Amino acid sequence: MNKPVVIHWFRKGLRLHDNPALLSALEKVGESHYELRPVFILDPWFVKNARVGPNRWRFLIQSLQDLDNNLKKIGSRLFVVKGSPLEVFKKLLKEWNVKKLTFEVDIEPYAKSRDEEIKQLAEKHSVTVITKVSHTIYDLEQVFKANGNKAPLTYVKFQSVVAKFGIPQKAFDSPGSLPKQCQTLLLSEDYNVPHLEEMRVDLTGLGKELFRGGESEALIRLNKYMNQQEWVCKFSKPDTSPNSMEPSTTVLSPYLKFGCLSPRLMYHRIHDVVAGRKHTSPPTSLTGQLLWREFYYTCGAYVPNFDRMEGNPICKQIPWKRDREDKNYLAWKDGQTGYPFIDAIMTQLRTEGWIHHLARHAVACFLTRGDLWVSWELGQEVFEELLLDADWSLNAGNWMWLSASAFFHQYFRVYSPIAFGKKTDKNGDYIKRYLPVLKKFPSEYIYEPWKAPLSVQQKAGCIIGKDYPKRIVDHEIAVKENLAKMKEAYQGHKEEGSENVTAKRKKAPSKDSPPKITKFLKKK
Ligand code: FAD
Repeated sequence: MNKPVVIHWFRKGLRLHDNPALLSALEKVGESHYELRPVFILDPWFVKNARVGPNRWRFLIQSLQDLDNNLKKIGSRLFVVKGSPLEVFKKLLKEWNVKKLTFEVDIEPYAKSRDEEIKQLAEKHSVTVITKVSHTIYDLEQVFKANGNKAPLTYVKFQSVVAKFGIPQKAFDSPGSLPKQCQTLLLSEDYNVPHLEEMRVDLTGLGKELFRGGESEALIRLNKYMNQQEWVCKFSKPDTSPNSMEPSTTVLSPYLKFGCLSPRLMYHRIHDVVAGRKHTSPPTSLTGQLLWREFYYTCGAYVPNFDRMEGNPICKQIPWKRDREDKNYLAWKDGQTGYPFIDAIMTQLRTEGWIHHLARHAVACFLTRGDLWVSWELGQEVFEELLLDADWSLNAGNWMWLSASAFFHQYFRVYSPIAFGKKTDKNGDYIKRYLPVLKKFPSEYIYEPWKAPLSVQQKAGCIIGKDYPKRIVDHEIAVKENLAKMKEAYQGHKEEGSENVTAKRKKAPSKDSPPKITKFLKKK
C-alpha cells in the first residue's frame, strides 16, 4: 500500500503565508505522518469556456509557478492535475491512498456547489475534509449570523457588525521546511505547471507586463507600500487619481483576487503602520478599502443571484439595452466611443489589465445610466474577461453601485466623460499614452477632439471620423434622456413598493458612498 497522503487543494489562496487550511494539512492525524500533495486542478472545460483574457491566464500561470517554487523550498511541490474537479478527485482518491483533504472556503455559488460535491465524494472514501476561512478577513457566516441571518446591505451596517468582533485574527506564518515524513516524494513531470504556449494563450495585443503574478511579487508590493508610512496614513481614496501615469493606489487587487496575498496580512500591516499616528479612517482609508472588499463579499455570499438583475432582490429592475451586438456597446468595449478619456481607460484595461477605481467609475457610468443605457451585466462581462483582478463579488457589487441598481441611489449624479478626467490630467498625458493617434492634439481639444477645427486636426495628423472615431453619442443629450428613464424606473419601484430593502437603504447615512468621489459627479 502507498504511503498515506494528505491533499491540500489550492484554488484561490495561492500562497504559503496565512494559509490555515494548508497548515492543517500538515498536522499529524493521530500518531501518523502523511505525505503532503498540494494540488491545483486545471479544468479543460474552464480553460476553453471561461471569460478569462490572456493577461489573467498569464498572471495565474506565474502565480502557480511561484507557488511551485515556494513549495519546493519547504520540501514539497505543486501537482497541476487536468480534468474536472469531480473526475480528478475520483481518480486521486483511489490512486493516492488519500486520508485527508484540506482547502480554503470559497463563497462563490459555483464554488460552493463544486465543494459540496467533493466533500460528499471524500466522505464516501472515508477521507477527512478540513476547510478554513482565509480569503476574507472575517468569517462571512459569522457576519451573516451576527446581523440576524441577513447580509448587511450598507457599508455602515457592515462596519457596525464587524466592530463587535474586535481586531481580526492575525495572519499565520508560512510553514517552515516539512518534517521528512511529510515531504513530497512523487516527482513525475506529468503534474508540472503548464506553459502558456501549451495552453494556447495568445499574448499578442497585450502591453508591457506590469504586474507579475505570485505570492513573492505580492509580498514585495505590499512591503513597498507599507514602507511609505506617510502615504499609508494619509491615504484617502477619493483623492487618488484615475489617470496618473503611475498607479495612485496599491494595485494589490490581482494578488488579493488570486489569494497570493492574505487580506488579513494586509490589514494587520496597515494597522501596524498607522498605529499611534494620525491617519485616515474607513471608508476612504486603506483599511476602509479592505472593508469594501469584505462588504461586497458578504453581500455576494448571501444575496441570491448577486451577479444579475433578474431574481436579485436588492437590484433595481431597469429596462437596459442588453444586445451584445449593439454598436455602441461594441464601441465602448473596443475603446472606440470617440470620447478619449473613456477610450484611453478601455485601452489600458485591454492591454494592461488594471485600471484605477475612479476610471472604472467613469467607464461604468458611461456604459449604463450616463450615456449608453446598456445593462451593467454586459459591462460586468467585459471586466470579467479583461481585469487581472476580476472578482465575482466585487465586480457585481461595484457594477450595481455604478449603475445605481443597488447600494447607491443618487442616479442623477453622472460622471462627465470630459470634465472628470480633466480634473487630474489637464494636459491629457494619460490619453496620449493610451491613444497615440491623439498624441499631437493640443491639450485644449484632447478631451473633445471633435471640437478642433479641421486645420488643427490636420496639423495633429488625426482627422476625427477617419483616424479617430466621432463621438458615438452627445453626452449632454444622452444624459438628459437617461436621467428621465432612471427617474421612471425608480418611480416604478416606489409605486410597486416591491423592495423592503430599498426602504431600509434610504435611511442609511450618506457616508456609505465614498464622500469626495461625488465632487466630480456633476455634468461638465
Ligand atoms: P486600493 O485602493 O489599493 O485598495 C486595496 C484593496 O481594497 C484592493 O486591492 C481591493 O481588494 C479592495 N478594494 C478597493 N476598492 C474596492 C471596492 N470599491 N470594492 C471592493 N474592494 C475594494 N475590484 C476587484 O478586485 N475586482 C473586480 O472585479 C472589481 N470590479 C469593479 C468593477 C467596477 C465597475 C468598479 C467601479 C470597481 C471594481 N472593483 C473591483 C473595485 C476597485 O476598483 C478595485 O478593487 C481597485 O481599484 C483595485 O485597485 P487597488 O488594489 O490599487 O486598490
